[in-house]
Amino acid sequence: MKVPFNIDLKGKTAVVTGGGGILCSMFAEALAMCGAKVAVLDLNKEKADEVANKICSKGYYAIGVECNVLNSESLENAKKEINEKLGSCDILINGAGGNNPKGTTTKEYLYKEDLNNKDSNIITFFDLDPKGIEFVFNLNFLGTLMPTQTFAKDMIEKDGAVIINISSMNAFTPLTKIPAYSGAKAAVSNFTQWLAVHMSKVGIRVNAIAPGFFLTEQNRRLLTNEDGSYTERAEKILNNTPMNRFGTPEDLIGTLLWLVDNNASGFVTGTVIPVDGGFSAYSGV
Ligand code: NAD
Repeated sequence: MKVPFNIDLKGKTAVVTGGGGILCSMFAEALAMCGAKVAVLDLNKEKADEVANKICSKGYYAIGVECNVLNSESLENAKKEINEKLGSCDILINGAGGNNPKGTTTKEYLYKEDLNNKDSNIITFFDLDPKGIEFVFNLNFLGTLMPTQTFAKDMIEKDGAVIINISSMNAFTPLTKIPAYSGAKAAVSNFTQWLAVHMSKVGIRVNAIAPGFFLTEQNRRLLTNEDGSYTERAEKILNNTPMNRFGTPEDLIGTLLWLVDNNASGFVTGTVIPVDGGFSAYSGV
């Protein structure tokens, strides 16, 4: 991976939750390439270690840390390990998140004939399990709030302290089929603004990146067929993305580094920056 420009993060400790995933592993690597010591946090320790080892093999500094962002004890254990090995946190990237089939309807619209359908493959709005909705809400919203409670304590009145949350296109306008994920990411955007105000007197800047459409494990089932071709939904997304392509994780790095660097964005807080090939600007007509 190449960073589009360098910022100086020497002496800084960065914590990246969901760092074993597709987008956040790139974020972790980019921060390490700019000189930060990076803690790659993930529920899946193997994935966290794999990302950290890859970063170290390129001559940068990272450790993998097992952490469930929804568990206070797990977060405290992670913080203790990071404080001992890397020092106190300067940069927090709240990346853990995602959708789940349990919070997803099978069709975009409700049709009367589906109401009494016994086909268990059809999940209408009325079939959605509140537990599935709760899972998605918790992962995205509490999964942003709880790590912030843990790590922001380290960041108070620290030079260049910054938090970056990961929102989504569906926070601006909900996407069909995924009411839980859309609502949860809207909550993440709203929380970003709330937190930016709340933390403004102790010198912590808080912003969010709202990625457009990136083909990753999380949405692969929605966007590609078994033979690898695009689903109808994927074609629809591309038709509504003026730049007519999916994003690549590298597309997000410039925005990440700009938001992290106090010299570049020191007066920017409480924003949600779309990186979406024009999707959120386009009405479809
Ligand atoms: P991903 O599934 O590749 O990565 C998510 C990582 O989070 C995984 O490694 C997973 O193990 C980890 N995780 C899940 N639950 C966790 C928990 N409780 N505690 C700690 N770690 C946990 O997903 P991604 O596509 O790289 O997405 C990263 C972020 O970007 C997410 O917040 C996602 O909602 C958001 N996002 C993604 C897209 C996209 O198109 N891929 C678009 C907009 C927003």
